[in-house]
Amino acid sequence: MIESLTATAPVTASLADVLSAHLASLTPRDLLAARQAIDLDIDLENGVTHDRLSARFVLEEPGVGLGDRWLPGGYGQLLQHLAAGLRIRLSTPVRCIEWSTAGVVVDGEKADCCICTIPLWLLPTLVLVPGLPRTHRAALENISVGLVEKVLLRFDERWWPANDNGYLRWYDEPAGWGEWLDLTDGVGVPMVAALIAGDAVRRRHHGRSDQQVAIDVAGALRRWAGERVRSGR
Ligand SMILES: Cc1cc2nc3c(=O)[nH]c(=O)nc-3n(C[C@H](O)[C@H](O)[C@H](O)COP(=O)(O)OP(=O)(O)OC[C@H]3O[C@@H](n4cnc5c(N)ncnc54)[C@H](O)[C@@H]3O)c2cc1C
Repeated sequence: MIESLTATAPVTASLADVLSAHLASLTPRDLLAARQAIDLDIDLENGVTHDRLSARFVLEEPGVGLGDRWLPGGYGQLLQHLAAGLRIRLSTPVRCIEWSTAGVVVDGEKADCCICTIPLWLLPTLVLVPGLPRTHRAALENISVGLVEKVLLRFDERWWPANDNGYLRWYDEPAGWGEWLDLTDGVGVPMVAALIAGDAVRRRHHGRSDQQVAIDVAGALRRWAGERVRSGR
């Protein structure tokens, strides 16, 4: 199905282009199933509108879930390994990078070169002297930054049904906290991370207190767990 959707589409087709014709051809039942799959498999991964996504890239990329590997001990050990022997200054935001073929000056300190890896949406907070070359700016204008957020909840006990691969999914209407990672086995305490993306972040997360968000997430998890128990799955 996915191959037939992208096979005839131009390489530059957006997901919106490809999906609009396909969704219009579906029965109401199939449309609901397709929308739920889009919510969880595409929107939760990307968090941007479909006109900003490449149909080919998004539909042909393998998703997450089955077969994923968890890193025992967490990502921290990778960072510790890479940081060994380096002088690292935490909580020291860089404000200005002056660069030329002769080298760089970062907040007044000279260096041979600078590798700048801050998130793209923070780039405007930096003063770059001179600014980025035209080709860099043109490339950056074609990259969107998605809105995807995670909320971690810790409980006294794991009261929700456990799942072999640690992923819990909930098809809510309209989309909300659609996916949880059950971190209990990994971190050793009953804990879930709830994911939310795109418009749902604005509807259910932003502008609310931490407590309101926590209650909303716990409610969604409770509804999902109740449904699982009722349906015997
Ligand atoms: C909600 C959410 C869930 C995700 N889940 C997963 C997942 O399950 N698996 C996965 O593989 N990836 C996941 N990702 C993606 C992953 O977190 C990112 O791809 C990865 O962290 C990007 O790494 P980075 O080094 O580019 O940027 P970041 O990790 O954002 O690091 C940028 C660093 O730059 C620092 N910085 C910013 N401004 C300055 C400044 N002026 N001066 C100095 N330092 C500055 C910041 O403090 C930060 O430490 C998730 C992302 C989000 C938002």
